[in-house]
Amino acid sequence: MSKRDYYEVLGVKNNATQVELKKSYRRLAMKYHPDRNPGDEKAEAQFKEVKEAYEVLSDEHKRAAYDQFGHAGLDGAAGMGGAGFGGGGGAGFSDIFESVFGDMFGGGGGRGGGGKSRVYRGADLRYDLGLTLEEAVAGTEVKIRIPSQSKCGACNGSGAKKGSAPVTCSTCGGNGQVRMQQGFFSVQQTCPTCHGQGQMIKEPCPACGGDGRIQEHKTLSVQVPAGVDNGDRIRLSGEGEMGANGGPAGDLYVQINVKTHPIFTREESHLFCEVPISIATATLGGELEVPTLGGRVVLKVPTETQTGKVFRLHGKGVKPVRGGPVGDLHCKVVLETPVRLTAQQKELLKAFDDSMKESNMPHSPKSQSWLDKVKNFFEEFKV
Ligand SMILES: [Zn+2]
Ligand SMILES: [Zn+2]
Repeated sequence: MSKRDYYEVLGVKNNATQVELKKSYRRLAMKYHPDRNPGDEKAEAQFKEVKEAYEVLSDEHKRAAYDQFGHAGLDGAAGMGGAGFGGGGGAGFSDIFESVFGDMFGGGGGRGGGGKSRVYRGADLRYDLGLTLEEAVAGTEVKIRIPSQSKCGACNGSGAKKGSAPVTCSTCGGNGQVRMQQGFFSVQQTCPTCHGQGQMIKEPCPACGGDGRIQEHKTLSVQVPAGVDNGDRIRLSGEGEMGANGGPAGDLYVQINVKTHPIFTREESHLFCEVPISIATATLGGELEVPTLGGRVVLKVPTETQTGKVFRLHGKGVKPVRGGPVGDLHCKVVLETPVRLTAQQKELLKAFDDSMKESNMPHSPKSQSWLDKVKNFFEEFKV
């Protein structure tokens, strides 16, 4: 047997105040009280029904659960209480549902001013903000254009064409919720036909297409703090989508996307780059101009610098947005093989190479140790 709607049992509107509920409950309880109706089973059943309805609706938590999920919410409460969720009250129950279905139902909860219309928190929005590495490191202020909604003036937000009015949804009978079986839980879900509104618009307002809201754009100024990195989010409270039926607006999340830099890569607070170096500079030592985010600096390169050597420039990295020391710039020198040599340059290089071979000094530390390793490797195979 399906239960009657509690509001219907008490003969009050869905937005009835506690005073109205109490008044109605007293009147009905007196009417059906067993003392006044001895032996009348029907009256006794009605008395129980009224008592139960009042017990739920007079409790703010239970009422909220009932408003959102109907009888299923309260049936579930009893069952889950037994299963060890403790308390047994509506409060614990509605908390559980809020955490499970929080987003789905908007979390805002509560009941709007009139009729069956439900209050929904607006959706959160995400905005992908592309920044250069320089902007992310130094911080910046950017203006972004985001979609925003405002109440449609033509229908005053009702969504119905002028002169017409919304009608009760036939799928859910105006309840805004339909019962769904999920495993062995039976839960109420938002009606797919009317999306929980409980009402359908037969003749949509031509200005807003029946939504009651109009899409616009607004420009926001976003303060990006210095040191932000890829994936960081800035939350702008209340700048998300407008709520429905007077519900609070969602939030806007600005997601930072740092573009690839032609010279530097970043890892946390450290920056990395590669600097080409000529054979002569690497061999004889000298000065090398290297880029930093703060401009060029001169790096002293010692004699006999090998390719792949990393020079660490202290404090030339990034100051992290969440605090901590400024990182370093790691400059890796990469030896360059000269290209497009003239005949004369080739001659000189050949002469230079010959002189290296004639000399008794080992000029190639890496080759020398490599040759030794190869020699040892083959000697181990000798029987
Ligand atoms: Zn519906
Ligand atoms: Zn409209």
